[in-house]
Amino acid sequence: MKIDKILESYDSFRESGLEDRFFKHQDLMRILDRHSGDFNTELAGHSLEGREIRLLTVGTGPCKVFLWSQMHGDETTGTMALMDLLNFLKHQAGSPISTLLLSACTLYLLPMVNPDGAERFSRRNAQQIDINRDYLRAASAEAKVLKAMHEKIKPSFGFNLHDQSNLWGVKNSTYPAALSFLAPAFDEPGSLNDNRGQAIQVIACIKDSLLGMLPGKIGLFDDTFEPRAFGDNFQKAGTATILIEGGSIIGDRKFQEVRKMVFAAILAGLSAISSASYLQNTTDNYLSIPKNTKSLFHILICDVFFQGIRTSIGINYEPVPTSDGNSIECFYSIEDIGDLSTMNAYQVYQADKMQIYGDIVYDCPADFDLVHGTETILSFKQGILQSK
Ligand SMILES: [Zn+2]
Repeated sequence: MKIDKILESYDSFRESGLEDRFFKHQDLMRILDRHSGDFNTELAGHSLEGREIRLLTVGTGPCKVFLWSQMHGDETTGTMALMDLLNFLKHQAGSPISTLLLSACTLYLLPMVNPDGAERFSRRNAQQIDINRDYLRAASAEAKVLKAMHEKIKPSFGFNLHDQSNLWGVKNSTYPAALSFLAPAFDEPGSLNDNRGQAIQVIACIKDSLLGMLPGKIGLFDDTFEPRAFGDNFQKAGTATILIEGGSIIGDRKFQEVRKMVFAAILAGLSAISSASYLQNTTDNYLSIPKNTKSLFHILICDVFFQGIRTSIGINYEPVPTSDGNSIECFYSIEDIGDLSTMNAYQVYQADKMQIYGDIVYDCPADFDLVHGTETILSFKQGILQSK
């Protein structure tokens, strides 16, 4: 299966009811209602604030695959990609790829595990709990639902869909990571068992399918064992668990290109599972994926004359959701000062002929003007970007 070929017709099955990252539970329910005649839907449970969490079952194959998204309410590309997948399977019904997939696998989709977080565009749930650190206690309503569904389904494979900060890059590359992957560890030493080995092989297949489209933009996520996380515990329980982190692509401000790549990654993974082609892939190939690194700033001002020397200034913003949860506000601070020649940024200013007016204080809000002759290039007032 050629993923790039399938993506040529992506617009024909892209879910048009989801246009940006800030959609809410009611938007998702509208889409799921529309699909209710085509796919088996059941109520998996409710969030603390009473929002429905629904499970969809697709296909009739013997291999059970569980895909869940948005445990973190502000990480929405996975939910969008799952809705694209439903449309794809519907539109391509009878095609070789969907026939193979749905006869080899039964897919269990649990989109938007944290709808109360989505409402606020926040990582955490309404009780400010990080659901992905609540596996052991399952104190939150949402963790209970996810854990119960996993225990009920007993899947062979799991797709754990998240988004990572847009400041993660890829080792030996100047790009942000568009996608990162991990077969989570199930113990402290990072041992291998059969199902973790299978997750590794599937990820190697996904990487092989997508690297041509995303050279230098695919990374391997940190594999430190987290005893409270769901992926690590599902791996321990015998589900070959595949973590997919949507990242960032320069210029893709609405994360729609990343969404498309998350869809492509899921489809490539499902294809490798349903054809059993993953069995031919290797751990070495998986380990050849370069690790995530912090090698990016949001803004980088290079070689500006400051405090009597030429130096560079790295600036990042903290995204804070607005009170209606429909957008974010960015609060900029000075992240680093010095030789930043190994770093890249979303916006780079070569500033050897520019001047800085105001204070540059490490780890404090940006509060200065960058000026070229009579033109103001950048202006910050107490962490807020005034103009570009
Ligand atoms: Zn996450």
